[in-house]
Amino acid sequence: MASYRQLLRVVPVSRSLARYQSTTAETSIKTSSISTGISFDLSDEQKEIKELARKFARESILPKAAEYDRSMEYPWEIVKQGWELGLLNPHIPTEYGGMGLGTFEGCLITEEIAYACTGIQTALEANNLGQMPVIIAGNNEQKKMYLGRMTEEPLMCAYGVTEPGAGSDVASIRTRAERKGDEWVINGQKMWITNGGVANWYFLLARTSSDPKSPASGAFTGFIVDANSPGVTKGRKEVNMGQRCSNTAGITFEDVIVPKENVLLGEGAGFKIAMGAFDRTRPPVAAGAVGLSQRALDEATKYAMERKTFGTQIANHQAVSFMLAEMAMETELGRLAWMRAAWEVDQGRRNTYYASIAKGFAGDAANRITSNAVQVFGGNGFNTEYPVEKLMRDAKIYQIYEGTAQIQRLIIAREHLSRAKMGLVH
Ligand SMILES: Cc1cc2nc3c(=O)[nH]c(=O)nc-3n(C[C@H](O)[C@H](O)[C@H](O)COP(=O)(O)OP(=O)(O)OC[C@H]3O[C@@H](n4cnc5c(N)ncnc54)[C@H](O)[C@@H]3O)c2cc1C
Repeated sequence: MASYRQLLRVVPVSRSLARYQSTTAETSIKTSSISTGISFDLSDEQKEIKELARKFARESILPKAAEYDRSMEYPWEIVKQGWELGLLNPHIPTEYGGMGLGTFEGCLITEEIAYACTGIQTALEANNLGQMPVIIAGNNEQKKMYLGRMTEEPLMCAYGVTEPGAGSDVASIRTRAERKGDEWVINGQKMWITNGGVANWYFLLARTSSDPKSPASGAFTGFIVDANSPGVTKGRKEVNMGQRCSNTAGITFEDVIVPKENVLLGEGAGFKIAMGAFDRTRPPVAAGAVGLSQRALDEATKYAMERKTFGTQIANHQAVSFMLAEMAMETELGRLAWMRAAWEVDQGRRNTYYASIAKGFAGDAANRITSNAVQVFGGNGFNTEYPVEKLMRDAKIYQIYEGTAQIQRLIIAREHLSRAKMGLVH
């Protein structure tokens, strides 16, 4: 399989983009003097990315997904292959050896990988989540050292915010960092960290203000912590309901010394960085849920066209075909939602509202859709010999990580009401 880097050599980004823009311009002059500005056509470059990710997902991941689910083994083999193809770490800027792709292009890859296995997709996606604070807030030296190394060999990183006592309520985290001269000393415990047990480095959020009344916006600091630092202890792999080959682990930090050069942006800036990263990482979570939903729809459709009851294929029973129709509606709407959220942030606009709508909707929809897929399969759907019970187990996490379904509603309501107060219309 040609890697994405090789494909880029065949059709350089600038040329394909220029061709895309000129085609669009000519078309809009010919067809109408009023351009709507909306196009659902992918550029040549985006089509190439999507095709490469699809081929990799369908040929190298899908056939192995059930076995990875059973063994719960970390998918190193797939990580290495994906890295070789240029499908990992798509957002690392070109100056640091990466592809410098936008959120939209990253989501195209994510949806394709998720179609094959969301356990593997989450393992790969956690790199983007771990890297995002460094991409948005890191200085040149930090990017060169921590993003650069990920382009030199297939390494994983992780985003360490959640703790045993605080998930949704991030401002209640208790991990502390104290400044001692040119260094910081970190003590605390993180929990549920994707890639926690396999990461080369962590983004870590710690409390640095000793004033309990200090607002969250100034009380926390973001650090980059090398995973092999003395005092870092990786916990055992957690055994989860779904996405079982992804590595989720707790991490303990005991008198871990971090140089001041590893502080992101400055003391007190951590909360904003940690939350700001979600604007770019929630669209791909939504895209993952959509990939899973599409797979459930495809599996259920195929089965409904083969399985016969009462002398006809079950797809001919209206109750079944309407279930498929509902599944199709929600899959398409989830896709439109991640596209809007990703497009907004790629335009340099604040997309918090759209990112939460996409994540909230696609996560809930994936749970309805996969449950319906099991229903279409009847008794077979409940059995591990068929693919859909895994899809249903895998779907649940989309309503929990990167902000639960309830937290997305809090954000959407807050954003909606603040727009309403300002008199903004959609
Ligand atoms: C497999 C997995 C991978 C994860 N990966 C990572 C990772 O890489 N990095 C990381 O930092 N974290 C990670 N997490 C943690 C995840 O983000 C948290 O579990 C999640 O944010 C919820 O926090 P909690 O578990 O503490 O639940 P809680 O915050 O205790 O919430 C419990 C319930 O109460 C609801 N609730 C809480 N507050 C409110 C409110 N104000 N209004 C309405 N409802 C509310 C929640 O929606 C939920 O239903 C992961 C978790 C899992 C399970």
